[in-house]
Amino acid sequence: MIDLRSDTVTRPSAAMLDAMMNAATGDDVYRDDPTVNALEAEAAAISGKEAALFFPTGTQANLVALLCHCQRGDEYIVGQQAHNYKYEAGGAAVLGSIQPQPILAAEDGTLPLADVAAAIKPDDIHFARTRLLSLENTHHGRVLPLGYLEQAWHFTRERGLALHIDGARIFNAVVAQRVTLAEIARYCDTLTICLSKGLGTPVGSLLCGDSAYIEQARRWRKMTGGGMRQAGILAAAGRYALQHNVTRLQEDHDNAAWLAEQLRALGVEVISQQTNMLFVQVPSGQTEALQRWMHAADILISVGTRTRMVTHLDVCRADLQQVIARWQAFLQSAG
Ligand SMILES: *Cc1c(COP(=O)(O)O)cnc(C)c1O
Repeated sequence: MIDLRSDTVTRPSAAMLDAMMNAATGDDVYRDDPTVNALEAEAAAISGKEAALFFPTGTQANLVALLCHCQRGDEYIVGQQAHNYKYEAGGAAVLGSIQPQPILAAEDGTLPLADVAAAIKPDDIHFARTRLLSLENTHHGRVLPLGYLEQAWHFTRERGLALHIDGARIFNAVVAQRVTLAEIARYCDTLTICLSKGLGTPVGSLLCGDSAYIEQARRWRKMTGGGMRQAGILAAAGRYALQHNVTRLQEDHDNAAWLAEQLRALGVEVISQQTNMLFVQVPSGQTEALQRWMHAADILISVGTRTRMVTHLDVCRADLQQVIARWQAFLQSAG
């Protein structure tokens, strides 16, 4: 199978499984799992934050981040298409009584600060209390410019808001911008990171922030059912990924760029390509046929009129050559 649906589909490599097999473990709810503790210390160090906390999923890490930043009746400003607004089942509203205030992202994935400013509610009994700005980096593969993050940081300081970055794919930004994680994370109070996307672990996310915040997060994590016991076997995969799978993300970016270029050469309309994602336009009459055609050749793509493809460590250039050959054959048979 060549699976371009998402970078969540990556499987642990033999070397990663080996690291998991040999992990020292303890009981992480008692805080004595040495491998979890080591992973959290490493994540804190590379993000330049005081502390970090390991979670089973990014959805839970984002939820806990919101629960820490906002009380009942508070509000966060967030992108209309952001994962922690649209794709997390309304968790902040359901479990935290936190009101989202979604606004439209600009073409480059940023939330224009003038629009954020306009969405902040005055201190008035009619309104929820605006507490937090939540950004997503990368957003649909797009890397938020550092200059924008710096402005957003100063803006939130002036307006008394906290700033959270949903950095599920933050390492794609790190690699694309050739900066350290800390150079990005200095512009946020808190940051979530997915280990289970392009970094290739089976499970795991991290929330980074200052120590008092992470202590609070630890209680919310327990309450929401994320206190795991011998989680060291999972944390070992995360440690392996941070060590071995970050710089190689460049290959995924190069592969996505190559795929975009080849599809353009076939006459396919490429809407955008950045980091490890590309979006192409497929004529609405052809979506189902293309999906079936690809699937028959063991190629998994979620085809829509706007089709997203994601490169990752389990697809190589030769796989993508097959995808191009198959796509070309489809266009010939359809044409
Ligand atoms: C995948 C993802 C998450 C977290 O997803 P989980 O599947 O719960 O780990 C959060 N934010 C973004 C932007 C994501 O892409």
